[in-house]
Amino acid sequence: MKRAVVVGAGIGGLALAIRLQSAGVETMVLEARDKPGGRAYFWERDGFTFDAGPTVITAPEALRELWQLSGHDMAADVKLKPVTPFYRLSWPDGTRFDYSNDDHQLAAEIARLEPQDVAGYGRFLEYAAGVYEEGYVRLGHVAFQDVMAMVRAAPALAKYGAWRSVYAKVASFIRNEKLRQAFSFHTLLVGGNPMTASAIYALIHQLERQSGVWWAEGGTNRLVAGMVRHFERLGGVLRLGDPVTGIDTLGDLVTGVRTASGRELQVDALACNADVVHGYRDLLKGSRSSQRAAQALVRKRFSPSLFLVHFGVRGTFPDIAHHSVLFGPRYQGLLADIFDHGVLSEDFSLYLHHPSASDPTMAPAGHATFYALVPVPHLGKFPADWREIAPILEERILAEIQRRLIPDLKDRIVTKFSYAPPDFRDDLGAHLGSAFSLEPILTQSAWFRTHNRDDAIHNLFFVGAGTHPGAGIPGVVGSAKATAALMLGDGK
Ligand SMILES: Cc1cc2nc3c(=O)[nH]c(=O)nc-3n(C[C@H](O)[C@H](O)[C@H](O)COP(=O)(O)OP(=O)(O)OC[C@H]3O[C@@H](n4cnc5c(N)ncnc54)[C@H](O)[C@@H]3O)c2cc1C
Repeated sequence: MKRAVVVGAGIGGLALAIRLQSAGVETMVLEARDKPGGRAYFWERDGFTFDAGPTVITAPEALRELWQLSGHDMAADVKLKPVTPFYRLSWPDGTRFDYSNDDHQLAAEIARLEPQDVAGYGRFLEYAAGVYEEGYVRLGHVAFQDVMAMVRAAPALAKYGAWRSVYAKVASFIRNEKLRQAFSFHTLLVGGNPMTASAIYALIHQLERQSGVWWAEGGTNRLVAGMVRHFERLGGVLRLGDPVTGIDTLGDLVTGVRTASGRELQVDALACNADVVHGYRDLLKGSRSSQRAAQALVRKRFSPSLFLVHFGVRGTFPDIAHHSVLFGPRYQGLLADIFDHGVLSEDFSLYLHHPSASDPTMAPAGHATFYALVPVPHLGKFPADWREIAPILEERILAEIQRRLIPDLKDRIVTKFSYAPPDFRDDLGAHLGSAFSLEPILTQSAWFRTHNRDDAIHNLFFVGAGTHPGAGIPGVVGSAKATAALMLGDGK
């Protein structure tokens, strides 16, 4: 393999492109939008920097590896610094819980809510460490191309009770309902319902505990910029603002790719980082096997969408942590409304991002940058007119933050805008406006997820949230490693 094309400059696409270019493959990345990053896009407004998506960087060693492959040091392009506490969680009754990997502090925080749960948490940790070894270290970076790979993983899945949900598993160790929420909400970060996502996803807890929670100086957009700089330094080419309109095939091979600007390229191999439904259904229109794959995909369960309010305010807020979760009055019922019933309920839980807590460069002097994120049903479950809903939901979210954290918030706002499910669909080509692609449930994980190499077209590959192992920065960087191994193995 001499020349490869990657469709999409999301973090997974860029990680794969770096791996290919590091191995000497001439790689071109074709990105539809004006900036790279995909979900990790960003905006600059009125002196504020607003990252669009990922804010919690975990598993930094997986990112560093992308530089080490060619003998470089990531620190020359991206400065990571630790964030603590990892999250500040709070509930409507005023209960607060700071969550970090400082064992002493964490035990004190747990004991404050429920002394008996300190021992239960210890047992949960043993469990989480086991699934982390099995699910992340052993299987998180290798492709599941055939059913035998799944069969080989079965004993471990059985040992860790993978058919149970994360919440059920946490609840088997921990009695306090708020602590159950604190140790199970993590699957939401990869689009999973804690009530139905496999207990294997408890590995996220161990991942954070072991390698910490990090922030890229200047925002996650700087991580993306650093990846691009590194890729280009190696000789790779990134073309922005030129959506791929078609992938050409002949028999069981991809032969070329066409873009909106009229570019036509011949390729030895192609990897699609775009949404998996968009890739199979829209870009591979001429391939019958791909159309069948698309039909199978649209029958699967997709993760919810998100509604985000970005706002810049006058003043600084040292008491508001970098990452906060404001739980609402309901947990299980709210999750069922979002994931199952397609109901946009009056109550909500929200994640509040406050980057200027760690990094004053994110806002003008004396100001602060925030985003508030609320999971909402995707457009397949809740096909509403978001032009009408968005201003109402935005108002409610800001009112809740005003009530719980910043009493005069509305008078302090300098700039604000929101981002809704149709934006995920229209800007990113996300099927149903899903924020995280296929929902991470056991029957849609590993071999049951979109294969990193297409079953019928030998030089067609996939990378990113819709493939194994799944969404989240560690997930898509892991998928890039799995896909690169398949592509480079083929090239030999
Ligand atoms: C609001 C939000 C917050 C999140 N927070 C976190 C977090 O804190 N930590 C974490 O680890 N993860 C987080 N995630 C998840 C994480 O951001 C994503 O799972 C990950 O970034 C997805 O990467 P990807 O490689 O799948 O590509 P994507 O980001 O999906 O990018 C795909 C790219 O393909 C491009 N594309 C699509 N169609 C075409 C076409 N036809 N031609 C050319 N290009 C095309 C798109 O424009 C896009 O740039 C968050 C996600 C969201 C939405």
